[in-house]
Amino acid sequence: MKEIRLSIDGRSVGVAEGSTVLEAIRKAGLYVPTLCHDPALKPYGACRLCIVQIKGMRGLPTSCTTPAQEGMVVWTETEEIQRVRRTIMELAIGNHPSDCLVCSSNQECELLKVANYVGVRKSALEKLRHRRLESPQDNSNPAFNFDPNKCILCGKCVRTCDEIVGIAAIDFAHRGYETVVSTFGAKPLALSVCQSCGECTERCPSGALTAKHTTAAEKWVETVCPYCGVGCSILAGVRGNRIVQVRGHREGSVNQGELCVKGRYGSDFVCHPDRLTRPLIRIDGVPKEFGPREPLEIFREADWEEALQWVAQRLSSTIDCHGPEAMGLLSSAKCTNEENYVFQKFARAALGTNNVDHCARLCHASTVAAALAAFGDGAMSNSISDIDDTEVILVIGSNTTECHPIIGRRIKRAVKNKGARLIVADPRRIELSEMAEIHLNHLPGTDVALLNGMMRQIVEHGLHDQTFIAERCEEFEPFLDSLKRYDLETVENITGVAREKILKSALLFAEDKKRAVVVYGMGITQHTTGTDNVKAIANLLMLTGNLGRRGTGFSPLRGQNNVQGACDMGALPTVYPGYQPVAAPAVREKFQKFWGRSLSEKAGLTVTDMFQAAHEQKLRALYVMGENPTLSEPDSDHSREALAKLDFLVVQDLFLTETAQLADVVLPAASFAEKDGTFTNTERRVQLLRKAVDPPGEARLDWEIITDISNLLGYPMNYSSSAEIMAEIASLTPIYGGIYHDRLSEGGLQWPCWNREHAGTPILHEGGFTRGRGRFHVVHDTPPAELPTRSYPLILTTGRVLEHWHTGSMSRRSRVLETLVPESRVEINPLDADHLGIQDGDTVSLSSRRGKVQTKAKKTDRVQPGQSFMAFHWQEAPANRLTNPAFDPVAKIPEFKVSSIRAILTVLERAAEDNKFLAALAENPAGVLESYDLTPQHRKALACQDMATLEKWVGPLDERLQVWLKTRLKQENL
Ligand code: SF4
Ligand code: SF4
Ligand code: SF4
Repeated sequence: MKEIRLSIDGRSVGVAEGSTVLEAIRKAGLYVPTLCHDPALKPYGACRLCIVQIKGMRGLPTSCTTPAQEGMVVWTETEEIQRVRRTIMELAIGNHPSDCLVCSSNQECELLKVANYVGVRKSALEKLRHRRLESPQDNSNPAFNFDPNKCILCGKCVRTCDEIVGIAAIDFAHRGYETVVSTFGAKPLALSVCQSCGECTERCPSGALTAKHTTAAEKWVETVCPYCGVGCSILAGVRGNRIVQVRGHREGSVNQGELCVKGRYGSDFVCHPDRLTRPLIRIDGVPKEFGPREPLEIFREADWEEALQWVAQRLSSTIDCHGPEAMGLLSSAKCTNEENYVFQKFARAALGTNNVDHCARLCHASTVAAALAAFGDGAMSNSISDIDDTEVILVIGSNTTECHPIIGRRIKRAVKNKGARLIVADPRRIELSEMAEIHLNHLPGTDVALLNGMMRQIVEHGLHDQTFIAERCEEFEPFLDSLKRYDLETVENITGVAREKILKSALLFAEDKKRAVVVYGMGITQHTTGTDNVKAIANLLMLTGNLGRRGTGFSPLRGQNNVQGACDMGALPTVYPGYQPVAAPAVREKFQKFWGRSLSEKAGLTVTDMFQAAHEQKLRALYVMGENPTLSEPDSDHSREALAKLDFLVVQDLFLTETAQLADVVLPAASFAEKDGTFTNTERRVQLLRKAVDPPGEARLDWEIITDISNLLGYPMNYSSSAEIMAEIASLTPIYGGIYHDRLSEGGLQWPCWNREHAGTPILHEGGFTRGRGRFHVVHDTPPAELPTRSYPLILTTGRVLEHWHTGSMSRRSRVLETLVPESRVEINPLDADHLGIQDGDTVSLSSRRGKVQTKAKKTDRVQPGQSFMAFHWQEAPANRLTNPAFDPVAKIPEFKVSSIRAILTVLERAAEDNKFLAALAENPAGVLESYDLTPQHRKALACQDMATLEKWVGPLDERLQVWLKTRLKQENL
């Protein structure tokens, strides 16, 4: 971009054409006060404090709104400027409360700072003070307070919520002296659409918006958010040994200072009193079952030496008696790369097994399998910032604004500010579908048909990129042939989406060779057809040539913060670090030589296989580091039974999770805030996390615990720091070959990074695919493993909510997050709810073929009739009791997105349970006819749903019970 030069207070400064005078002033290293300006917001010029004088220009223009021009001569501090600024400031704070000493913004108040800089006169303030009614404060939000009496109407919060967050929860209301910042309808913030992200609070210059539960920090430590795979850079404000505040790091490569509610307010779990502080050993004879028991009723505390000896001895005896294949190890996407590396090395070299896996099996195993097959790399192809430069975004199976909020905001801004066109394919109505040009609400489990239908239209309209296909891809002909069966009528019948919408989406995606990106999440991967679904996405991108260029790409959004890194580090049963196959003799030889041990060539068990093997008592011992499979595995009752059957279970975690409660030994581990190391985010960016506080009590770093056990088992592992471990990783893992801690302080590096001189790779597949040619795959529509029946008529899809994470072990111990969303809800369409007599907020019992849970109902048309949605964060309502363990045959990922359930009001279920006949009717209406000796009159009453006759027989039935009975009888078609 062309540079222009201008003079500022006599200094010559060069800036890019299009910059503002204020930007030029900042570039020259000069200060002018501002209260309404923020580099991330559009110039506003409301506070007028940044006024300047410009040669040849009349008056005092605001520098934030004045474009810089070649040869401009600017003064920032003349007498006139100072006089006018002082008056502006006096007017702004004339009525501001003067309780600065007790204001929670005191230490960092921008208003105070600017007032001191500009200099205000007491006499002027007294003259300007006018009587104004005290406005009520809004303290309804659990994260922050709003005191309108301190508001200077700079508009930063209003613009932040609109321009950055894309919510517009607040705006100016009324006029003149009455003007206030308000929610729509002047509702309390807690009842508004506010998402409690705190971006407005972070930018408010005046103490009007202030965070609750916070004190001034002594120091700020740059590290990485512990929640999702976006990997936002945070500054942890530390006081003593506590994190007292969290801010987004403005220089963060991924988030440029933005955070969602979890990142900003969800780190207090680190200091939660539930943290484990000493090793625990199960008391002899205490049964492995759940129940409301205190930890010390199950375990006794032990010192580290005893606990580690005990673990080493039991692991050793398991191997002696049953062989290394009787051992399983679950690594953790919450732990660092270095810890995952050490953990898989421990499994392979110290214990002699490849039975090591982690929660990627439950989220993106299908992505890794499909993308390796199609492209040769199992990861996101481009960078998150590519979304800014794309023209079409297809979001499929990703509730991005809730599960990856900072990427969600980026998508919203691309649509709103840059004209990107958005297609959302999701059975549910989500936030992004509200702004999408097309919302394809296809039936759960019909993604392949939908994508194949779109691709057939793209080909029929000649919109495929023939040059890209010819030069860079293979296996196109069989793929092309496979599309023949996906005509619009067929696809409409399979997916439930009108053919016009499918055609329109295909044309929108591919017409005019636009730059397009496909963003997807677990709505694609968590199916028995997960690998096929991802292959269909890969096909679409190759068909339209949307790979290897800026603004295009394949964007799987990884779940947990370091799930990409755990995969990269080889915490998978078939690959060593860097996806180097266990089955390749040369690779095995390399690791054998470096690790000094003979390594097993047998592919290990996946998580899914391990639970089955535990049930069959082929797997005898399991080591779980930082995972909670008791809540996260499908058909969780069955998984819990499997864990209880183990001879030995060791759990290493921050809290006594539901899984730890079943353990023989529990080892207290350090959290993200208590360690140095690296996380790799969803765009392959390896970022440094730094220790902010000490672990509580005797809790220790995960890698230190593992290396101690390894040493006891006779396989020496001695490292002095995580940086040393990373150096070993670099020496063995080509894609991490240039990744060393000392290179990561400036925003991290994206792999592949081949050597110390390599700058990393923001875009994969430029000029060629990692595997050579991109490979098209033939994939066909296959129905989900479980479809609705009369007994289980609703489809249940599980997922996440914005405020919580995974099995809730961290987010549910955060004061703000737990207050915001303290309990689970099942979303049911109003048509189904009315049919079942269910009101909003009613407690309902949900049953599947595997189990039953109780939760509150939320009537909403976000879900379509016949469908329901529930998050899996709550141990009180564990959604995975209901889910189907059927899995994808390639990636072994379970089908969390489609299970068949039925719902009943819990009060009715209880009423029915009190009556043997009604209970039987609820469970199996058809069976009642066979097992009960019914009179013809009663048979007729059932068939006609004749409640009056039934009542004579079974006693009074209240109105809702009658509605439910009729529904059940109708479902069963009795
Ligand atoms: S609440 Fe704060 S950010 Fe919002 S207008 Fe008032 S002073 Fe400005
Ligand atoms: S907390 Fe976030 S969503 Fe709520 S008003 Fe502020 S910026 Fe908007
Ligand atoms: S988007 Fe993800 S990484 Fe960023 S603050 Fe939110 S939870 Fe943390």
